[in-house]
Amino acid sequence: MQVLKFGGSSVANAGNIQKVIDIIQKRKTGKLIIVVSALGGVTDLLINAAGLAEKGDEKYKEVIEETRQRHLNTVNELLPSEQQTIVTRIVDHSFSEIENICNGVFLLQELSPRTKDRIMSYGEMLSSQIIQAAFPKEAMRWVDSRSLLVTNDNYGMAAVDLSATDKKIQDFFSSAQEDLFIFPGFIAADKNNITTTLGRGGSDYTAAILAAAVNASVLEIWTDVSGMMSADPRTVTAIKQIPEISYREAMELSHFGAKVIYPPTIHPVMNKNIPVRIKNTFAPEDEGTLIKNEADAGSNIIRGISTVSNLILLSLEGSGMVGIPGFSKRLFEALAGASVNVILITQASSEHSICVGIEEQFAAKAKQVVDHAFAYEIRTGSIEPLRIETDLSIIAIVGDHMKNHTGVSGRMFAALGRNGINIRAIAQGSSERNISAVIGTADVKKAVNILHEEFFETTYKQVNLFIAGLGNVGRKLLGQLESQKDFIRDNLRLQLRITGLANSRKMLFNDEGIDMKNWETALEYG
Ligand code: ASP
Repeated sequence: MQVLKFGGSSVANAGNIQKVIDIIQKRKTGKLIIVVSALGGVTDLLINAAGLAEKGDEKYKEVIEETRQRHLNTVNELLPSEQQTIVTRIVDHSFSEIENICNGVFLLQELSPRTKDRIMSYGEMLSSQIIQAAFPKEAMRWVDSRSLLVTNDNYGMAAVDLSATDKKIQDFFSSAQEDLFIFPGFIAADKNNITTTLGRGGSDYTAAILAAAVNASVLEIWTDVSGMMSADPRTVTAIKQIPEISYREAMELSHFGAKVIYPPTIHPVMNKNIPVRIKNTFAPEDEGTLIKNEADAGSNIIRGISTVSNLILLSLEGSGMVGIPGFSKRLFEALAGASVNVILITQASSEHSICVGIEEQFAAKAKQVVDHAFAYEIRTGSIEPLRIETDLSIIAIVGDHMKNHTGVSGRMFAALGRNGINIRAIAQGSSERNISAVIGTADVKKAVNILHEEFFETTYKQVNLFIAGLGNVGRKLLGQLESQKDFIRDNLRLQLRITGLANSRKMLFNDEGIDMKNWETALEYG
């Protein structure tokens, strides 16, 4: 059995859904389970409508109407007219329910997490039913995920009861005769059959739970990129696609904001050793990324570079905590009590300070609860009031093969140091799978590029040139650089790229390198 999950962009409109249908139809072997997200952007629209209703803003009706229209257009473009009537009826019925629920929210100006889950659930319910209708009658069986996935009642981020869920899924498939099934992702039900959701992006998790329960031969996550990348493509141009990655590396990278896969997805499949393939719906022939137990190291020691932004550092300092057990416990208890999530922890062995990285949004709360917890020590002067540093980010290098490899952190910090990047805190766990450094947010783009070059582009060193002054001398220099380019690359291992030109009137920039054949015309438009 294979499980294929298609994300929101893969099912955003009729054209994209047609691509999904082609991918499914080409799969001739064995039983298939399909899991789908809502049409791209629909969950946000539903949340927006609910939020407007809660605020007493009648615009929620317009948002609902816009969302309804999107579904109707998809139905009209995707399905032949004789099949449209029945699906249109489902869409209209669902939207009248959504409108009724939102009317209630509007009247009460109150939106509980439970009601919000109910409203969001329509996205996946509808996308899955529309796709089912695009298949010949009875070729694909639609299954309501809420009848098989059991969760607690933590609405918005419900925890799955894995043993009850596995049993239900296995019972279901032991008697189901069909070869092709479709499930709405993201949604489940608690033990009272009230609709719950698994957290934003949770359709991947639905697919992983199904794959683990049926012991699938593979879990495929179909999205709009050809797999995981060595860094954020918006930051680095010489990005490398990752052909293979281990489960643990994938978890590290996805926790660090590589949004290709929802982090909890890995666990269920890792336990059963089921390979996961990330595939691109819009380039299905691309290999994508294979996530498995042991991934080939290739020529790189590290697998990827990741960042977390909007970080602040809390420093608790003072001579009063040296050699006295229990200080860190009190600090973490205070933070946990205020539901502040801790992202990074460091403490030097002098024990004079403990440093904790948290999300920026919790700054005021953290300050208040920690200063309160240590009020006595602060009053008596043995501890300073909590110090907060803002505008920080984490940059991390990730890879299983860093373990037992000397010199990796040396290379990381030397490269950052050579380029003038100041490091505020460092953390490395003994798993040696991740080395994290806290740096100023303003330095992030530069730092990612430096590390990418250091670890992934080692063959040539990239040199970006800005040339100011394009008179006789400047022009001659440009000509020489152009004619010597290959020699310099092959003999000095320097890749020259002219990224900026200026004369006394105009400036021209191009991160990718300015085309030397027509720089003069380009500069005129600089
Ligand atoms: N539709 C949900 C979301 O946008 C779940 C998903 O797509 O995975 O978060």
